[in-house]
Amino acid sequence: MSNHSKERSIIEHASRRSFLGFSSAALATAAFAGLTASAQEKASTQKAEHDHSSSDPGQENKPLLAENPNSNTPPPTDHGELVPIWYSFDLVKKRVEEGGWTHEVTQAVLPSSKDIAGVNMRLTAGSYREMHWHTADEWAYVLYGNARITVMNPDGTMFIGDVSEGDLWIFPAGYPHSIQGLGPDGTEFLLVFNQGNFSEDGTMLLSEWVAHTPPEVLAKNTGLDPSVFSKTPGAPLYIFPGSLPKSLERDKAEIGGEIVASKYQYTFHLKSMEPTKSGKGGEVRIVDSRNFPSSKHIAAALVTIKPGGMRELHWHPTASEWQFYIAGKGRMTVFFPVDNARTMDFNANDVGYVPASAPHYIENTGDTDLVLLETMPSEKFSDVSLNQWLRRVPSEMLKAHLNIDKVMAMKIPAEKLVVI
Ligand code: MN
Ligand code: MN
Repeated sequence: MSNHSKERSIIEHASRRSFLGFSSAALATAAFAGLTASAQEKASTQKAEHDHSSSDPGQENKPLLAENPNSNTPPPTDHGELVPIWYSFDLVKKRVEEGGWTHEVTQAVLPSSKDIAGVNMRLTAGSYREMHWHTADEWAYVLYGNARITVMNPDGTMFIGDVSEGDLWIFPAGYPHSIQGLGPDGTEFLLVFNQGNFSEDGTMLLSEWVAHTPPEVLAKNTGLDPSVFSKTPGAPLYIFPGSLPKSLERDKAEIGGEIVASKYQYTFHLKSMEPTKSGKGGEVRIVDSRNFPSSKHIAAALVTIKPGGMRELHWHPTASEWQFYIAGKGRMTVFFPVDNARTMDFNANDVGYVPASAPHYIENTGDTDLVLLETMPSEKFSDVSLNQWLRRVPSEMLKAHLNIDKVMAMKIPAEKLVVI
């Protein structure tokens, strides 16, 4: 954004301010005039756009404001309060170790998201995220570079695979796994867990378990001499540097080849798959248990919204939605009864949350593609389209509810377009 247009957007933003300042007066006037409070608020906000009411001579955090104009001064259709629907990875501390870093957006900072937590992690080339497991399923999307993953099934068969930007993996709860950054510059990825209070700091680490088991027990279990275990690390490894692995073929052969190979596939090429749906406004790629059977509890959509395009008005019948914004700028309004609607702005590295069944849209407010992941703790990705519903009810019914006649109704798209 140029300085000039940034200034203009701050000014535009300021000129729409004031609606909060008017609301108490609006309530009194509304009671007197017999108007609803929200109608009065809307009228007041629109009036204030043209006078001095919206000026803000005090302090402003201008860079933050420039990125979040709708969050600060919502459209007049907003009302009431909603659970938190926004957070950003750029507000949570990084745990930096030799070999990479990690940080997380969990219920601790986004308390409304009870079903999903997210982790963002970087591993330099050769570095490991230590062999470990945990009580939640782990769904991952590669944001940058290349990585090698391993996961063992309880029957002892092993999956080893390489992933690149736009690929994903799933590790079922309790299955032991590892991640390693590959060349030339390692990897960065997003992890999604189907537990809102999940913390990447609370996983079961191989090194920690070994450190808390008597050496004579480890010796008895492995058949090795107890002295071997005096050389194992006394502190957790978590993220640590390593050498680049051999080729995938050599690693697979070394552990026993086809006989020990997993029958299940744990990686998926999401970004390079054919769009599930595409149109002038953008495209969507949906991945769930129907096209990726190993992912039984987490479904997702990779959504691209072109400038001027919009993720249509919709909701998800049973599952809450946890979003990660990959690129571009957008705004989302979430409605929730009684009489609550909240609009927030979203930029790359931000997280969005939508309660189950709460209707919403996402609009591209920038001049580049808006790209985001919609994830949900669910076997199948499922959404209900407002347009489709309006077109499926008899025209008399639609006229009675919204005063839209049949001629007009026929212009509404009859099919779910996802992005319009
Ligand atoms: Mn893990
Ligand atoms: Mn949605």
